[in-house]
Amino acid sequence: MGEVLNVLVATDDHAAFLMIESHLTRHGLSAHCQCVADAGELAAALGQGGWDVVLSPGYSNDPDFSKVRTATQAADGNLPWIVVSESVDAECAVELLKRGAWNFVRKDNLSRLIPAIEQSRREASERRDRLEADKAFREGEEVYRLLAEHAEDFVAMHHIDGRRLYLSPSFCRVTGWTLAELRVSEWRTRVHPDDLKYIERARDANLRGEVTCIEHRSLCKDGTWLWVETRCRPLLDASGKVDKMVVWSRDITERRQAAAKHEQLLMQFLQAQKMEAVGRLAGGVAHDFNNMLQTIMGTTELLLGETAPDDPRIEDLHEIEKAARRSADLTRQLLAFARKQTIEPKALVLNAVVMDTMKMLRRLIGEDIELIWNPASALWCVKMDPSQFDQILTNLVVNARDAITGSGKVTIETGNVVFDEAYCQVHPEVNPGDYVMLSVSDDGCGMDKETLARLYEPFFTTKADGKGTGLGLATVYGIVSQNEGFITVTSEPWVGTTFKIYLPRYVKSAARDPQRQKAGKTQSGVETVLLVEDEGSLLRLARRFLETLGYHVLSAGSPIVALQLADEFAGEIHLLLSDVIMPGMDGHQLLQRLSTKRPAMKCLFMSGYPSDAIAHCGVLEKGVFLIHKPFSKNELGIKLREVFSAKPL
Ligand code: ADP
Ligand code: MG
Repeated sequence: MGEVLNVLVATDDHAAFLMIESHLTRHGLSAHCQCVADAGELAAALGQGGWDVVLSPGYSNDPDFSKVRTATQAADGNLPWIVVSESVDAECAVELLKRGAWNFVRKDNLSRLIPAIEQSRREASERRDRLEADKAFREGEEVYRLLAEHAEDFVAMHHIDGRRLYLSPSFCRVTGWTLAELRVSEWRTRVHPDDLKYIERARDANLRGEVTCIEHRSLCKDGTWLWVETRCRPLLDASGKVDKMVVWSRDITERRQAAAKHEQLLMQFLQAQKMEAVGRLAGGVAHDFNNMLQTIMGTTELLLGETAPDDPRIEDLHEIEKAARRSADLTRQLLAFARKQTIEPKALVLNAVVMDTMKMLRRLIGEDIELIWNPASALWCVKMDPSQFDQILTNLVVNARDAITGSGKVTIETGNVVFDEAYCQVHPEVNPGDYVMLSVSDDGCGMDKETLARLYEPFFTTKADGKGTGLGLATVYGIVSQNEGFITVTSEPWVGTTFKIYLPRYVKSAARDPQRQKAGKTQSGVETVLLVEDEGSLLRLARRFLETLGYHVLSAGSPIVALQLADEFAGEIHLLLSDVIMPGMDGHQLLQRLSTKRPAMKCLFMSGYPSDAIAHCGVLEKGVFLIHKPFSKNELGIKLREVFSAKPL
């Protein structure tokens, strides 16, 4: 044995100490022995530490000193204590072991002492190893526990019979549920119904031993849904069967929201692109299409005029006319949707316009919704483009319809409203004056504050994919502002919504009733008209229209021919009726060339396509008249009279 043993001998019998010390050295144990003679000395020596073994003479009559066992243990639970005594009977030996002695040696048989010390030291070393292993194990457990409990992710372990073996506290922290609540409620009630199928499928796979990873929604105590990514790994028992599942879940709500936002922006972009494409398509088609419709409608009209009223072919001609008109409406709608139409403000009595669209609106909202129409009597006029007004009305009615599930009511009302100075002081967005009000209300779902705040934002919609564009109210707002009006909205969730549009009263043309004009008889004229149209069939048709209306016609198939004709014609040309888009020179340029020599000549353009040549940003320039193709002979007659009777600028 190379090392020096530190031996503490607890005895007040010095002779015994010397005997032990000499025995140890004599038998080749290199030991440093120290004697303590009472409990106090013992405690002090133990306090210093560094002992390899304590030898004591067994029972001492000193009650304190007999507590040597206690003291030894208190100093170091793993310090061997060997009793060296006069005699040890069986009863006494049992008692000593109970008190914690590791071994005992009789004084008269000291030859056992060194083997006893060595055995005790081996045991001590083994005990130490075991304790260290225990400690390491406990520390390891603590590390795992801390890792699991402080992880942001949720960790759980289940038995396959459903018993929960572990659930990290982060789950309760994030979802708000207590363990007790989780225990009494079925887990399915906390999974979004749409996601249950994914979980069931994953569980089946887990039972087959597969690892799964799914995303699903988990209900929090406050009623909100948490998006979580859940990985589940099955654990096998000794026989290779699945018996437990380890589950890691991670809150991915933010990630999902960001992805959803991205998706939404993408959809908006695609939607805008779609609008743009529809606009181009409509614009491109409108030009040629309207020219063809013009020929169909015009020729039919002329044939109708030449057919006897009792001729059976009259019916067929009417059918052709109707179909052509419907086609023309379709093109107009397409252009309106794409906001490519040229606007032409007119004096309008809204009651008449609403009446005109009533049939279409009824069809739009379906049979389950009642459409109530309360026109005000003696309604004032407004000045705006009728197709723009149609857009406002249609958008508001469609929104009202969409707000109603099942059956309900949509009410359209009109009224005259005066806002005085006092009112406008409180409502700075309103200019004082006379207004015509259009109100559209519904008893549908209504709107919350968040929706109300974003109502007119382009692309803001609460409707499902493919249902809403979010452009309806943005368009309405644009049109109303363009016409110097304003909008108010009142809405209450589950009660309904009322939109009110106020448009400035138009006084000047109040006397002129467009309805009466429309229904009036064809006006005829005697003036000379220079007709320019590059499309042969249209040129012939318009010529026949004009001649039937009584005008004298100079017709030209191109702007160049028109300039020549005008040069050669000695008499007065009262009006230029010209197409807008023609090869070589557009209608506007032609007018400018002609008016230098004939400044009094009036002009009416015919077009089936919005063109910047005569309209600035879609609004007709002042003093420019336009008739939309296709038009009937009657409409041309009325329009011509309008142009002739307009005062020069
Ligand atoms: P869209 O109809 O394509 O959604 P709009 O600009 O017309 O776009 O409307 C925007 C949003 O305003 C709608 O998605 C809806 O949430 C809300 N809204 C508009 N009108 C009503 C209404 N009458 N009742 C309830 N909500 C409405
Ligand atoms: Mg809408």
